[in-house]
Amino acid sequence: MDQLIENKILKADLAFNEWKKVPFEERQQLIAKAAALLSADSEKFGKIITTEMNKPIAQSVAEVEKCALMMNYYAEAENILKPEKVDSEFHYSEIQYVPKGVILGVMPWNFPFWQVLRFAVPAILAGNTVVLKHASICFGSGNAIEQVFLEAGFPEGIFQNLEVGHGEVKEILEHKAIMGVSLTGSEKAGAEVASIAGQNIKKSLLELGGSDAFIVLSDADLDEAAKVGALARLQNCGQTCVAAKRFIIDEKIEEEFLPKFIEEYKKFVPGDPMDKETKISGMARADLADDLEKQFNKALENGAEIILPLERVSENAFTPGLIRVNPGNPILQEELFGPLGMILTAQNDEEAVRIANDIPFGLSNSVWTKDQERQKLFIENLESGTVNINRMTSSDPRFPFGGTKSSGYGTELSLLALREFVTPRTVVGN
Ligand code: NAP
Repeated sequence: MDQLIENKILKADLAFNEWKKVPFEERQQLIAKAAALLSADSEKFGKIITTEMNKPIAQSVAEVEKCALMMNYYAEAENILKPEKVDSEFHYSEIQYVPKGVILGVMPWNFPFWQVLRFAVPAILAGNTVVLKHASICFGSGNAIEQVFLEAGFPEGIFQNLEVGHGEVKEILEHKAIMGVSLTGSEKAGAEVASIAGQNIKKSLLELGGSDAFIVLSDADLDEAAKVGALARLQNCGQTCVAAKRFIIDEKIEEEFLPKFIEEYKKFVPGDPMDKETKISGMARADLADDLEKQFNKALENGAEIILPLERVSENAFTPGLIRVNPGNPILQEELFGPLGMILTAQNDEEAVRIANDIPFGLSNSVWTKDQERQKLFIENLESGTVNINRMTSSDPRFPFGGTKSSGYGTELSLLALREFVTPRTVVGN
C-alpha cells in the first residue's frame, strides 16, 4: 500500500482513540460549525461541484445548502446513543453503543457533497472517524470537505480524503484499522466491495441503483404530476438514484396526461452549467452518455417507441428523450442513469403495482392519487425503501433513506443512521 495512504489510515485510527471519548454534544457543536461554513460559502463549493461533474450551478449550490440543513439536523438531534438501562435482576444491566473505529466511505460523483456528508456526519457523530475514497472525478470536492471539517475545528484525522482509484479499495478495506465500509454507487461496485467486506468480516452498508416508478392514477392532479414528474426525471441531468425513471400511467388518463408531461419535459433544454438559469446540462462524463445511448438503442431494438428522441447535442449532452415501453422489454430491468424516461400504461391499480414491482431494484416510488383507499393499496404493496404520495422523492434528513432488493441495505439519514456503525454492547451481571 502507498505509504501516504497507510499513514492517513493510521492517523484516522489514532484520532479515533480520542474522538470516541468526546461527548456527543461537543461533537454536535463542531458539526454545527461545519454546517455554517458550508452555508456561508455555498457558491464557492457549488462551483467545485459544477466544474467537476457539470451539474447546473443552481442545483450545485442547492446541494451544498441541503448538506448544511442535514448537518444542522444532526447538530440538534436527540442522543440515541446514550447507555440504555434494561430492567432485569442484575446489578449491571445496560446496552451501550460503541463506535466501531475507522470507516471507509466509497462515494459517487452524482451528488459529490451530499453523498459524502450524508454518510460521514452520522458516522462521525456516533464517534467514528472516516476516510473517503471519492469518485475519481471528484477529488476536489473530497478535499474541500476535508478542509471544512478542519476549519470547523474537528481534530486532524477525523475526516480525510484519500485520492485513490477504485483498484485500491480492496487493500484499504482489508487494512486492519478499517472497521466498516459504506458505499454509494452501482450494483457492480457494491457487490464487489461488500464481498471484500464479507471476506474480512467487516460491516458494510450499500446505497445502490434504482429504477423508481412514478405512478399517475386517474384522479391525480395531472398538471402538478406532469410538472413534478419532469423534474423528478430530469434534475441533475437524470443522474439521480431516486429519479423517477418509469412513468406508469393509468390508461384512462393517458391521453390527457401525456401532452402536459411532454410540455413540461421540453422545458429542459441543455445549457451552460455555470448559467444560473440552466435546468439541464451535460452528463458527468462522455462515456456515461455513450452508455445511455446504447441503452436507448437496446430499448428500441426490443420494441420501444420514441415519444421524444434522445438527441445528442454534444460530447456529453442530450435533449431529453422519452420512450414508450411494454412490459417484457429487457431495458426495464436496467437503470437509465441519464435524461431518458420510460412510459408504461396500466389498466388498473393492481396492474400498476405489479409493473412497479417487476424490477430488481427497490429504492423509492411515487404515487399520485387523491383517494386514500388507493393510496393505501400502493403503500402496502410497493416494494421500496420509500413510498411518496403526491410528491417526488427528495430525501429529508428526518426520515430514513435506504433501499431494498438490489438497491442495497442499511440506513442513512434520520436518527437510525447513528446506529449503523456502532456495536450495541451488553453489560450485564453483578
Ligand atoms: P460507480 O461506478 O459504482 O462508482 C461509485 C464509487 O465506487 C466510486 O468512488 C468508484 O470509484 C467506486 N468503484 C467503482 N467500481 C468499484 C470497484 N469495483 N471496487 C471498489 N470501488 C469501486 O457508480 P457511479 O457511476 O459513480 O454512480 C452511479 C450509481 O450510483 C448509480 O447506479 C446510482 O443509482 C447509484 N447511486 C445510488 C444512491 C443511493 O443512495 N442509493 C445515490 C447516488 C447514486 P471510481 O470513480 O474510481 O471508479
